[in-house]
Amino acid sequence: MASEYDVIIVGGGNAAWCAALAARESGARTLVLECAPQGERGGNSRFSAGAMRVAYNGVDELARLMPDLTDEDKAITDFGAYPQDQFYDDLCRVTQYRTNPRLAETLVGRSFDTMMWMRTKGIRFAPIYGRQAFKIDGRFKFWGGLTVEAWGGGPGLIDALYSTGARNGIEVWYGARACALVHDDGGIRGVVVRNRGITAAVNAKAVVLASGGFEASAEARARYLGPGWDLAKVRGTRFNTGDGIRMALEIGAMPYGNWSGCHAVGWDRNAPEFGDLAVGDGFQKHSYPFGIMVNARGRRFVDEGADFRNYTYAKYGRAILEQAGQFAWQVFDRKVTHLLRDEYRIKGMTRVSADTLEELAAKLEDVDAPGFLEEVHGYNAAIDTGRPFSPNIKDGRCTRGLAPEKSNWANPIDTPPFEAYAVTCGITFTFGGLRIDDDAAVINTDGLPLRGLYAAGELVGGIFYFNYPGGTGLMSGAVFGRIAGAAAGRFARGGT
Ligand SMILES: Cc1cc2nc3c(=O)[nH]c(=O)nc-3n(C[C@H](O)[C@H](O)[C@H](O)COP(=O)(O)OP(=O)(O)OC[C@H]3O[C@@H](n4cnc5c(N)ncnc54)[C@H](O)[C@@H]3O)c2cc1C
Repeated sequence: MASEYDVIIVGGGNAAWCAALAARESGARTLVLECAPQGERGGNSRFSAGAMRVAYNGVDELARLMPDLTDEDKAITDFGAYPQDQFYDDLCRVTQYRTNPRLAETLVGRSFDTMMWMRTKGIRFAPIYGRQAFKIDGRFKFWGGLTVEAWGGGPGLIDALYSTGARNGIEVWYGARACALVHDDGGIRGVVVRNRGITAAVNAKAVVLASGGFEASAEARARYLGPGWDLAKVRGTRFNTGDGIRMALEIGAMPYGNWSGCHAVGWDRNAPEFGDLAVGDGFQKHSYPFGIMVNARGRRFVDEGADFRNYTYAKYGRAILEQAGQFAWQVFDRKVTHLLRDEYRIKGMTRVSADTLEELAAKLEDVDAPGFLEEVHGYNAAIDTGRPFSPNIKDGRCTRGLAPEKSNWANPIDTPPFEAYAVTCGITFTFGGLRIDDDAAVINTDGLPLRGLYAAGELVGGIFYFNYPGGTGLMSGAVFGRIAGAAAGRFARGGT
């Protein structure tokens, strides 16, 4: 195993591959270490829907990104625009103005250009008609700043990245777990790798850490996120146990960002412990803005309509975890069931239906039925029905006098059949991690770059706090992966 590489990339997801391709562009001999076996390669990126939040100024720019857009697509769709300042504002707003402004500016400012670069690497994109657009008066209208997805979703993105990596002569070792960084006062010298039962050092002039957060470690979740987090289900890969962060901290890297924060959503109560690649993100249940969520007492506990789904879903997993028994039921009536996302139609989910509210109450496992009925009647009576319901805009159709209120999309739950879905907390990824500079070099506790060490993706701290605008994880991995790989390549080839 003791070969010599210019750049070693630790991880095999989107951030890792963007780093590998950028390093290779500079001529660096590049090795990707993926600790998963080949059949499970690709990290959380593969589990994702492939949605990517990108700043664009209108349909003409989107057409550059997606040359497959037809004139008919353009005629039947209002793509709107998502300018950089809006993306930046959204990121600042949902992170309660904690996001590091420099990292945020880079992420937003390089988003379009990075996706264009990915195109040159053979990655294709398409509009997210299925999830981010509703049809009004015969035209699709996109909402929530999220318009583009990778062709074939997360699995399509990962297949394309591995294929393009192979075409570019990038070596991959599967089942190869990075255990430690080799370094001395001169900087990084390589990585200690455990591969098929053998542990040995592999030399490299530079290393990019892109091995995800610590969401798949129950121990680390309880330690950093707090009590109860060991009980969360993991939405994605079982391989992101925080190794990259730990290895960097061991050699003096600075911890940074929201270590007690994470992205976590409502996820089928009976989903397995880790993600299932055959189901992908199908266990999520993201249409709660059109209904209500109740806990074991039958009571509502969040404003389901506080904002568009993609500005609240990442923090409501925590709210569910905090309820007794760590579960909730999402309840809908017939007026809105046609709006439920595809994931409400997968096989094997925890769902009940009934023709009366009383019958439904009896079927909601572990819920206090009288409490639930009282809650629904109170909710129905509190709705200001003067405003029309409209799923594409924040319609202001709200409740009055409840705690918590529902701020938008409030409809009485009164039209059978009624449907309910049981959810628990599914953790997606953790927010705390390593501090990087403008070159994505890892910063040490003295505030100086660790020579030859770079980082990208989930394990970078300082971007997300409390919450997250949907589609930004892949974008962050791509932007900082490309920067990290290019800088690592330059460094390894004798530049600085
Ligand atoms: C169900 C689901 C849906 C999602 N949907 C979206 C979406 O639509 N849009 C979006 O932007 N984000 C989405 N996300 C979040 C997104 O997946 C992540 O933010 C993003 O993929 C992180 O990329 P990454 O490359 O940093 O990490 P990952 O893709 O998780 O890659 C980490 C890699 O490191 C490897 N690894 C870990 N430890 C080691 C080690 N010691 N040695 C070697 N390799 C190691 C892992 O095997 C893996 O290959 C979703 C996540 C999930 C779970």
